[in-house]
Amino acid sequence: MNEEARDFLFSTSEKPNTIINPDKPRLLVALGGNALIDKEQEGTIAQQFENLKVPILQLARLSRDYKLIITHGNGPQVGNLLLQQESCDQVPRLPLEILVAQTQGQIGYMIESTLDSELMRLGIIDKQIVCLITYVVVDENDPAFFQPSKPIGPIYTKEQIGRLNHPVRMTAKGYRRVVASPQPKTIVEKHEIKSLVDMDYIVICGGGGGIPVTRGGRRFYGMNAVIDKDLASAKLAEEVGVDILLMATNVEGAAINYGKNTQQILHQVKLSEIEQYQKEGHFPPGSMGPKIEAGLRFLRGGGGRSIITSTITIEEAVAGRAGTIITR
Ligand code: ADP
Ligand code: MG
Repeated sequence: MNEEARDFLFSTSEKPNTIINPDKPRLLVALGGNALIDKEQEGTIAQQFENLKVPILQLARLSRDYKLIITHGNGPQVGNLLLQQESCDQVPRLPLEILVAQTQGQIGYMIESTLDSELMRLGIIDKQIVCLITYVVVDENDPAFFQPSKPIGPIYTKEQIGRLNHPVRMTAKGYRRVVASPQPKTIVEKHEIKSLVDMDYIVICGGGGGIPVTRGGRRFYGMNAVIDKDLASAKLAEEVGVDILLMATNVEGAAINYGKNTQQILHQVKLSEIEQYQKEGHFPPGSMGPKIEAGLRFLRGGGGRSIITSTITIEEAVAGRAGTIITR
């Protein structure tokens, strides 16, 4: 981000702290991986905290007018944990469900503390934040379990893959482990989240798409899988009942003919129009595809507005002046 954009974003022409409006609309913001780690960066904790200020400052301001739920990705962080544990034989390896839980704590803490500081800086002293470990139920018969396709973790050489005991696939970056990415069926903590949002708590939850679990009688069993965070966020948005689902990423919005000379960012679009573009294959799996699908599912489930925008323009997009805004 250039100096000018940063100055604009961090300028604080402050309104005094406003009285809480009990009928405030509900906004769910799903933060993409780049909100913490820019692809060009090493990804130190100091860099992650610095990057987070950009979306979080805007969310702090938005919390005056919206009830807020914040979800987030965890790809780079889980990747680092996998690399760390694969570099050390002295402690037992942890299953993926535990690594996802770890990143909910790690990233949740970073979001919560950054948000807390921003709220204080803005003089908003009546906001409470809760960070919630979140399980998401998946179906053990989901076809994804029979065809693991989601690349995660480090890149391996051909020699290394012979020694691995998990499925591996050749990707654009090299050989990587692949895991199942099943569909989110329901958010286990949806009632708790709804109650907290009703009370105007800012809720950080659903990190990394949630900890995938299956239900067996009265118990939950953690699964070796990852759930797409945009699809899990759409499910949460639907189950909790939010007005706006906003997915913040590292591009201005969703485009047709992405990366070609004819590329065109979509601004205000209708659901039926996006469905057509989706059929034509403009949104690839693993990146823009799930965001579009999440946006569509949210609207079909009764949601009001789905937005895809850059982490820099969250406020502008909520105001209708940036990003891809999809409505029915
Ligand atoms: P996040 O971590 O925010 O989920 P992703 O990498 O999964 O981010 O998705 C955002 C990426 O999607 C962008 O960086 C962009 O390169 C890619 N992308 C693919 N197709 C499109 C498209 N049609 N319009 C916009 N971006 C696209
Ligand atoms: Mg993504």
